[in-house]
Formats: sequence, structure tokens, C-alpha cells
Amino acid sequence: MKVLMINDHTERIGGTEKYIELITKELEKKGITILKVSYGNKRKETSEELILQEPKNLFTKYYRKSFSSKKNILRIKKFIEKTSPDVIHIHNINIDPLSILRAVRGKNVVQTTHDYSLLCPESWNTHSNMEECPTGIKIKCWTKHRRSKWPFYLVSIYSFIKKRKETRTAVKKFICPSFTIKKYMEKNRYEKTHLLPYPLTNKKTGKKNPGKNRIIYIGSLEEHKGIIILINEMAEVTNKNPDVKLTIIGTGTKYNLVKKRIEKLGLDQAITLKGYTENTDEEIRKNVAVIAPSIWMEQYGLAVMEAMINKRAVIGSNKGNIPKLIENGKTGLLFIPEKKGELAKKIMYVLNNPDRAINMGLEGYRKIKYHDTAKKHTKKLLEIYLKEK
Ligand SMILES: [Zn+2]
Repeated sequence: MKVLMINDHTERIGGTEKYIELITKELEKKGITILKVSYGNKRKETSEELILQEPKNLFTKYYRKSFSSKKNILRIKKFIEKTSPDVIHIHNINIDPLSILRAVRGKNVVQTTHDYSLLCPESWNTHSNMEECPTGIKIKCWTKHRRSKWPFYLVSIYSFIKKRKETRTAVKKFICPSFTIKKYMEKNRYEKTHLLPYPLTNKKTGKKNPGKNRIIYIGSLEEHKGIIILINEMAEVTNKNPDVKLTIIGTGTKYNLVKKRIEKLGLDQAITLKGYTENTDEEIRKNVAVIAPSIWMEQYGLAVMEAMINKRAVIGSNKGNIPKLIENGKTGLLFIPEKKGELAKKIMYVLNNPDRAINMGLEGYRKIKYHDTAKKHTKKLLEIYLKEK
């Protein structure tokens, strides 16, 4: 059996890429061949992988979102013909969605909904007051979903409508990592949805004691992840306790902005930008708590799960799926990111009450240890691949 994975990027960026790598490993163990189509700086083609050129400037970036490329459709089609995959598994396709969807039409296509991009043109699914949109974009609230400047937003809406139409034609089944997003998908007439939560990345947990005054952020450095809020709140935390250390693991398009912000607030000593690292479990265990400050409707919350599996307390925003994972006061603490100073307060609480933090970590572990392992998850994934509907 051959499975073609299609995703915007191949290099490790965030949770989605991590997930693809995990299932690739498991599927390969079962003798399944994994093929890949993605976008990068340079075009490349091998017998198992096709990398297409990503748009270089803002104009082509927006243009490519709204209009398919005949050349790319042909390249993808040819690659599919040559490799003849049994299943095409689409993940995030925000760079060149229309070319991809046209090229895979009529094939056995499944898509995992890693974000809200089929429900909101800005993919956050929040209104301008930061509240969750109860329905996914509708005519009555279309202006409230805008976060970018008007001309960009209008282009986004145009490409969103086109993408939605093509998706309904091309994708046969949707795999939803959380019940939250599954409900939204069904409300928006995406009927063939399957619930399949992300697997646990690691079942071995270390006994190592957490380092005093240490907290960690793991995730991509993007605005919707709330990374800027976290840095701003750190200024307040270090005012009260200058010994607090925050480690940031991950990269993203806001890397330089984050770096500048840290310098501007004089937090160079308190915050370490570590970039991407392979062994996140080991990093997590060095800390008292994991911070998950997302400001979009977090559709899953991988960092929250990673905290729990490593028996660490977690402080998460009250957005999307996060409050469904964190039992406030028991397995972690929730905060409202719009309320200035709230995150700082919760961080101080956890650091000042290390015994409570250890307890929350243990409670979290108790809650999560029944989640599927990667092996079990992949078995269910294969069943979905092979299902008629
Ligand atoms: Zn809305």
C-alpha cells in the first residue's frame, strides 16, 4: 500500500509536521510506502517526494491562494500517475490549495483538519472581540472574522470560498483530531467526518525533578499561539521574581519579532530562545510548568498533552480545545489572555506552590495515559483510509 501525504511544508515547523512524521514512522513499520508533496525554497523531485516552489513575495503568495497554477496541477498529477498512491492524505494546504485540490480530484482523498481554515478565512475562527465564532463564518458575521487589512481580507474570503468548493468536490473523508472541530465541520455540511485524536508522542515518563523557577513554551512562533502575550507577561513575572527562567522551543515566521520584543523588554537573561529541538519530552521535564497561551480557537493543544504525559503542570488559555483538556485547578490552570496580568499571576502561583504544581502534573498524567499510543492511532487511521465512507 502507498499513501501520499500532502502538506505545505516538509521541514519541522509545528504540531502538524510533528504528527506527519510520527504517523509516517508507524505506517512505514507496517510496510506502507509514504510519498510526499510539499512546498519549499527550491523545486525538487525524487521517486518518493515532490517539492514545489513556494511563492516568494506577498503578491504571489496571495495570488497563489486564489488562483490555481496549471503547471503545478500538471506536476502533481504526473507525480500521482507515476507513483499511484492508494490513499492521498491532505494536511495543511494554505500555500497552493486550489492546484492541489484540482490535481487530486477523483482519487481516494482524506484530509485531517489541523486548523479552522475550512471554517474561517483567517483560520482562527474568532470574532474581532476575541470570542469564539459559534458557527464558523456566516453572512451575518463575515466582517467580524477580519484580522488583516481589508484588501487582504477580501482576497482571503475569495480564496476561502473557492477552496471550500474545491474541497467539497475533492475530499472524500475528513479526519478530526478533536470533538470540538468535528462538531464545527458537521455544522458546515462536511458530513463524512471521523474523530481521531492525536496520539501520545511518548509513554515513558521520567522521574526527574523539575528545576526551580523554570517554565517552558513549546510550539511554533506565530501570533495565534499567543507567544507575544507570554513575553509581555514575563516582564511582570520577572518584576516580582527575577530568578524566573522561560525556555522557548520552536521556530516560526515571528522569530525575529519575538527576539526583538525580548530585547526591548530587557528579558534577555530571563528568556532563552532555543529554536527547534528533537527531544521535547526531556526539555519539558526540566520545568515546573508548560505554558500554552494560544489566542485562536486552539483546535487541539498538543503542548497541553505533552505537559500531561510528562507529569508537569500546564497553564493554558481558555481558547478552543484547551479548557476541554485542562481541568482548572486540578490538572492545570486556565487564564483569559485578553486580561492583562492574568497569565503572570498564574505563573507566579505555580512557581510559589511547587507541591501544587507537582500534583497537577500527576493528575494530568492520570487523565491522559489512556490516550492512544502512536501504534494504536495508526491502526485506526488505516481503518479510516480503507473505509468506503
Ligand atoms: Zn463568525
